[in-house]
Amino acid sequence: MNDQERRERIARIGITIAIDGPAGSGKSTVSKLLAERLGIGYLDTGAMYRSLTWYALESGIDLADEAAVAGAADEMPLRMDSHPRNPHYWVGDAEVTSDIRDPRIALAIRHVSTNLRVRAWMAREQRARMMAAREQGSGMVAEGRDITTVVCPDADVRILLLADQEARLRRRTLELYGDASEEHMAAVREQVEGRDRADSAVSEFMEPAPGVAVVDSTGLDVGGVVEAVLALVDEDLLARG
Ligand code: C5P
Repeated sequence: MNDQERRERIARIGITIAIDGPAGSGKSTVSKLLAERLGIGYLDTGAMYRSLTWYALESGIDLADEAAVAGAADEMPLRMDSHPRNPHYWVGDAEVTSDIRDPRIALAIRHVSTNLRVRAWMAREQRARMMAAREQGSGMVAEGRDITTVVCPDADVRILLLADQEARLRRRTLELYGDASEEHMAAVREQVEGRDRADSAVSEFMEPAPGVAVVDSTGLDVGGVVEAVLALVDEDLLARG
């Protein structure tokens, strides 16, 4: 199927695509390219957790106070311009697009992402966005840790994107430092392994749930991964007519 045919089918029947994977699996890059090819929306659920962490820190909320952080989620004036080529995020009038990538956010985020009331709020918000896009004769690619299992277990296409540990570390290090020297790899190793441990305490994202397809990006370039995912999209579009 070519992109034009895919887009025509999606305009008729809509689509939801759920992509989970650990840090450095390449899911953001792949999800953005996919959304662009298919002409559908892109939802970076990690950016929502990051924005809430930014907002709670900025508001001086004690991150250990679960009720206060859950309350902050309810009142957070988050706006997302999720254009896949250039997503932007604001909380109120403050543009947080680059601030939420700050290491201080990555260090604090586990307090927010292990808060079960926050997770329930996130799942509701994220699901609503996915379903609304699908109903409007378009669709959405949502990427995160629990999209295939909690947020949208009934998504039309469900994928777990994996890559071996060293490949993930190399990608993240290149992204953060522009090189993959021993020293930089070691710094990122600590951060990534710590975050994987904290994340796997609240959602299982290293093993596929039943019905979730695994795409292993080790040794594949981005184009190769996108093609593997598009094959699964085609399967779904053909099956649903
Ligand atoms: O994907 P990204 O690295 O931006 O995610 C940042 C953090 O947000 C993750 O380490 C995880 O703690 C949290 N997260 C989550 N569930 C999601 C997406 C992100 O817990 N669906």
